[in-house]
Amino acid sequence: MEVRQTVEIRVRGTVQGVGFRPTVWRLACDEGLVGEVFNDGFGVLIRTTGNSDAISQFLTRLHSEAPPLSQIENVETQVLNLQDFEDFRIAESVSGENCTRVTPDAAICAACRAEVLDPSERRYGYPFANCTHCGPRFSIVKEVPYDRVNTTMVDFPMCADCHSEYLQPADRRFHAQPIACPACGPTIWLEAIDPSAMPAHPVTTKALDSAIELLRNGAVLAIRGLGGFHLACDATNPEAVQRLRRRKHRYGKPFALMARDLDVIRRYCKLTLAEEELLQSPEAPIVLLSANGAEKLPPGVAPGLSTVGFMLPYTPLHLLITRQIDRPLVMTSGNISDEPQVTRLDTARSGLRGIADAMLMHDREIANRIDDSVVRIVAGRPTVMRRARGYAPSAVPLPDGFADAPDLLAFGGELKATFCLVKDGAAILSQHQGDLEDVSTFEDYQKNLQLYSRIYDHRPSFLVADMHPEYLSAKLARQRAAAESLPLLEVQHHHAHIASCMLENGVALDASPVLGIAIDGLGFGDDGTIWGGEFLLADYRGYRRIGAFKPVAMVGGVQAIREPWRNTYAHLKDGIGWDKFVAGFSKLDLYRYLNTKPLPTIDRMLATGLNVPLASSCGRLFDAVAAALGLCADQAIFEGQGAMELEALAESWRPSTADSPYDFTITESELLYLNPLPMWRGLLEDLAGQTTVARMAGRFHYGLAKGIREMVARIRATVTTDFSLDTVALSGGCFQNKILLEELVRLLEADGLRCLLHAKVPTNDGGLALGQAAIAAARHIEVARASCA
Ligand SMILES: [Zn+2]
Ligand SMILES: [Zn+2]
Repeated sequence: MEVRQTVEIRVRGTVQGVGFRPTVWRLACDEGLVGEVFNDGFGVLIRTTGNSDAISQFLTRLHSEAPPLSQIENVETQVLNLQDFEDFRIAESVSGENCTRVTPDAAICAACRAEVLDPSERRYGYPFANCTHCGPRFSIVKEVPYDRVNTTMVDFPMCADCHSEYLQPADRRFHAQPIACPACGPTIWLEAIDPSAMPAHPVTTKALDSAIELLRNGAVLAIRGLGGFHLACDATNPEAVQRLRRRKHRYGKPFALMARDLDVIRRYCKLTLAEEELLQSPEAPIVLLSANGAEKLPPGVAPGLSTVGFMLPYTPLHLLITRQIDRPLVMTSGNISDEPQVTRLDTARSGLRGIADAMLMHDREIANRIDDSVVRIVAGRPTVMRRARGYAPSAVPLPDGFADAPDLLAFGGELKATFCLVKDGAAILSQHQGDLEDVSTFEDYQKNLQLYSRIYDHRPSFLVADMHPEYLSAKLARQRAAAESLPLLEVQHHHAHIASCMLENGVALDASPVLGIAIDGLGFGDDGTIWGGEFLLADYRGYRRIGAFKPVAMVGGVQAIREPWRNTYAHLKDGIGWDKFVAGFSKLDLYRYLNTKPLPTIDRMLATGLNVPLASSCGRLFDAVAAALGLCADQAIFEGQGAMELEALAESWRPSTADSPYDFTITESELLYLNPLPMWRGLLEDLAGQTTVARMAGRFHYGLAKGIREMVARIRATVTTDFSLDTVALSGGCFQNKILLEELVRLLEADGLRCLLHAKVPTNDGGLALGQAAIAAARHIEVARASCA
């Protein structure tokens, strides 16, 4: 029997500014319901009257037909006294309270794409078309609530046509804050840097045509995009690629590419279904792909690597440029060297002069700089390496037990810096901001801290930072804690990695500890030494260090990162011993090469202990092996360059019955140490035996995975716990290595272990802030519980 009733429905999550209310309105009308829907400080509230079947049908459809950019986290329904409404209407928002969610920017949707390419539409060829399902969001927000007046679209009063679309619930642009058209919205123009080379300020069609012509002719073009400027050139033109590298002073690091469609990408990369879906997703990230297609790109695009990063055009502007170019374009950040991406017109004019031949400009200001995200399919699923456009600042929900987490602010690390706010039961992880040692990046990081605190109306009750005495983020946190009399918690680097992985996987606050494996370049250990290959028995509150990679000296401290041969020498000396190496392998090129280095000075440093900190670092082991094989031995342009080249070489090798991975051994002292000595013996014999570099790189990768598995087995066999140690959390920058991660997961799962991996939160230091936040929240909750008991 049908019962007429009134219910109140509370929807939480990302439900504002994404077309949620019009969807509610449409579904309610469809189901013959009356009532109202509005935004408030918690999300969306619906009050509706109708028969119970229709209401339950409405609730089902609310989930299955939710707008694409929305993310429903929770729906609560409550029956009220019967109320009558005349119809179903979208009511005024309840003001005064800020909803704590800001939506990430989204790639152009299919409907807007079709419109921009349809000559009969009024937005035909218009570079700024968007709707409630796509377009700029975070990049244009200056304040909350997310209304046009609080975005950089405030400069463009709507025309009558746009306004009527904006007010029409049935329209795809109902309440689309960045709504625009050629009559009222932003415009583009092309600026010459050499004024004699082209006419100044041609607009729209002419600007586009000239820009495309320039790209076809090998010019370097600066393009103002969504979250910043790009530098673009024809990726198939080796001279253009080299010119861009030279002018930008960017050597070694790969360039990202943009291609018109999947067909263009398929010429260079065989795409899997998962990769196709990721490229076409609303996040539209740069996807790292194997360069295994029929055609090859010039080596200058991604030197020494077997992967290439492709993205599809994600704004109408990019769509209009690429659709007329039948080949990939380099689309790299518009910056100088390692500085942040340029966003402003004036800084582009001064800063990119001498790099670009011309600039394609527009007049919609970029409120928040946001880089392109970088994602790779690893172990069968999308794994975010750089979390920025499309992903940030979407909230990471806190798992069970964290409901009472206080508002706090975690400052993150030093490289690939991010920070994290905890507010209203969710963690807001900032976008990737780069390496803080660059002065302008650090300034930017501080500006972003202010911006987020304003947007989220965030007043932390305490602060969290890395233990490292020298990290700029940690120093800033200490200063701020002192200035504002806030408590500060310092968190160990690798514990933070493991906690971020647990949190991302929804591990509850009171769950049993996991075995955390954190491998990376380096982080400050709680014993004052450098860590970077750690086996931690960990929960959110604490950890016990059970094992590590055998510590080896980093000769010259950070110089060992820049000059990888130093690690090879230190490893050989520490393991096999220099005299034995000379006695057995003096015919090797490696011996002759190392002999050209100032070894006596280094021996003195090692003897006196001056600037030779011990590091249990997986990253330095990769450096040592790469340099032994002749990769980046003298100089690494960026950290991990040798490891990336080593991985590229290992791709063609698989272990077989005839050919096995190198061995590692486990040494027992106060900790269990994963000792690479047998690996070095095998590698030196291979070097002496003229083995291919690819085979050695392969034997190393699979050997390391096997060694880590043996450590895990030893720990499970020897460490007594009052719970079953059956879950392993894998985190740290070295797990960006696809071969190592996939092989290790295969081995651990074969041993019956459950593996927690990263997906939407970076495994590298970009995820640290989230782990810091989780640890701080857990400890706070524990203290609160203790004081209640
Ligand atoms: Zn759209
Ligand atoms: Zn308009």
